[in-house]
Amino acid sequence: MAETTPPTPPPTPPDVRSEIAGGGSEPDPGAPIAPDQIDPDLVKLSRTRPKIGVITAAGIVFLCSVFLLRLGPDRRFAGKGSEPQPATVADVLAGKVDTDKLVVITAEPLVSHAIRTTTSKGSLGLRIVPVRGSGDRLWIAVSGDGWEAPAVAGYAGRLRKLEDLAFAPATQDHAAEHPRRGFAEWTPDQHRAKQHAMWAKREPRTITCRVCGTEFQSTGMRAAFCSRRCQRTTERKPGAGVQPDGG
Ligand SMILES: [Zn+2]
Repeated sequence: MAETTPPTPPPTPPDVRSEIAGGGSEPDPGAPIAPDQIDPDLVKLSRTRPKIGVITAAGIVFLCSVFLLRLGPDRRFAGKGSEPQPATVADVLAGKVDTDKLVVITAEPLVSHAIRTTTSKGSLGLRIVPVRGSGDRLWIAVSGDGWEAPAVAGYAGRLRKLEDLAFAPATQDHAAEHPRRGFAEWTPDQHRAKQHAMWAKREPRTITCRVCGTEFQSTGMRAAFCSRRCQRTTERKPGAGVQPDGG
């Protein structure tokens, strides 16, 4: 008798086996999802909670307070009226006008002394122009475009301290580097000292008296007579006045 071996079951094809394995509730990872089903992997996606420590919180508080201070002038300006208040140059220089206020000033800008300031090449930027008679203490920022319509009704704008402005350092450096020439504004004392020095070194010149012909020395610009007596002679004659600068 031949020993019979039990017949081995025919090997199942691989595609069939996988079908059996995948028949459970858990599909293979990466298995295609039917269009009307929800991909469980996407639903499970979650972010790790950001760690906000004491340092981060303190940093945000610090930034808030920095901006609160930096934006303070803007907040004050926004809180004030929208109608420009007339102000004079003298009042502004005397500190009688609040900063961060909308003012309109009738002033004469020394446009030839303007300093051009810009944040980028190719843009016209602004012209910072000193106001005549303000001793370079009051400046007007006008458009960099020279073809702008002239401000015939005065210059309206927000009054600010120069050092608070972004262009202040650059403008001051430029002004220091390039001293501007213009009208010298002398004080009365300077004028007096200059006159004194001029007369002190003035040489006497020889003048011939207009009445008697005597020659005499004088530093005067209009000296014409040798003496008070000769001068009186002309005064007595009707119609004969002293000729100014006749010497
Ligand atoms: Zn004389």
